[in-house]
Amino acid sequence: MEQLPCLLGMTLQQLKEVVAALGLPAFTAKQLAEWIYGKRVSDFEAMTNLSKTARQRLAETWRVGMEAPVDAVRSSDGTVKYLFRAGDSHYIESVYIPEGDRATLCISSQIGCKMNCRFCATGLQGFSGQLSVAEILNQVQCIDQPDSLTNVVFMGMGEPMDNLDNVLQAIEIMTASYGYGWSPKRITVSSVGLIPGIRRFLDSCSCHLAISLHAPNDTVRATLIPAQKAYPAGELLDVLRQYDFSHQRRLSFEYTMFQGVNDTPADARELARNLQGLDCHINLIPFHAVDGTGLRPTPPAEMERFMDLLNRLHFPTTIRRSRGQDIEAACGLLSTKRMELNA
Ligand code: SAH
Repeated sequence: MEQLPCLLGMTLQQLKEVVAALGLPAFTAKQLAEWIYGKRVSDFEAMTNLSKTARQRLAETWRVGMEAPVDAVRSSDGTVKYLFRAGDSHYIESVYIPEGDRATLCISSQIGCKMNCRFCATGLQGFSGQLSVAEILNQVQCIDQPDSLTNVVFMGMGEPMDNLDNVLQAIEIMTASYGYGWSPKRITVSSVGLIPGIRRFLDSCSCHLAISLHAPNDTVRATLIPAQKAYPAGELLDVLRQYDFSHQRRLSFEYTMFQGVNDTPADARELARNLQGLDCHINLIPFHAVDGTGLRPTPPAEMERFMDLLNRLHFPTTIRRSRGQDIEAACGLLSTKRMELNA
């Protein structure tokens, strides 16, 4: 059976157009936004301040569109990996990461990914489609504990700048007063660095930006990241220098460490030279081994030395703790390839 179109993912303006087309009073749009984004109610009948006529007309042509996860796997460290259905017969994953009094949700922006970075499991599964705004927001609204979330990071499957219209609309709804009403500082978008998208993102919202750099220079980066060819890191860093990251908005660089590839003291010094003039934080990530990549993780003691050196060179640097490794939820391990084959 054909499914009705869904309201989840619509801006207030779009909801106004829906209610106008149904001949309902304009204020119904605000009420709908409050039920869907504020209270996360998916049944029109439960929307008690809407008239009976409004509820009936809406239910004839629309659905809210929230979909519960099809699976949730819990790690020994409290991390939870959620599996959601997306598109016609695909799946995506989101990871809930509790830490003290904070809880971060790592969400996906695409089904698979086109970027094909050498070290990433998502890249190996290939690309199966874009996520709609509804499918992006559904990950935030339909986990078990949405009220506990303090942060959302676009660091799951996919490249956010390759689905930017939908990512920006999802961000609008998360930050608008009619939506979740969150400060943009609670949201971080991570990107491989597609320059036109990065510019548009920086010009159109004030969320934090994380760049997957992973190399001290363009030559090493080219061996790891195919997108480096079209958008060299050197050019990207020049673009980033045109923006202000010294106040509210944070810029960080992700740097996954591969033994003998990007992890020597000389690499740290070259990295620091190339980042001169940028107000930023560096996040070192342990490589979570993916079969067939020919890459090995840098030992923890060497990661510490690399971190200490960067800190001495005045770049605030931390090592990202791996979370949810036992359930394949850690950075770069998200892949629904097996499930896609069964679908
Ligand atoms: N497309 C976005 C989001 C990717 S996933 C981006 O490129 O930023 C989030 C981070 O995990 C990225 O920095 C990514 O490069 C890194 N990553 C991917 N595979 C990894 C692996 N196997 N081990 C450690 N980090 C990995």
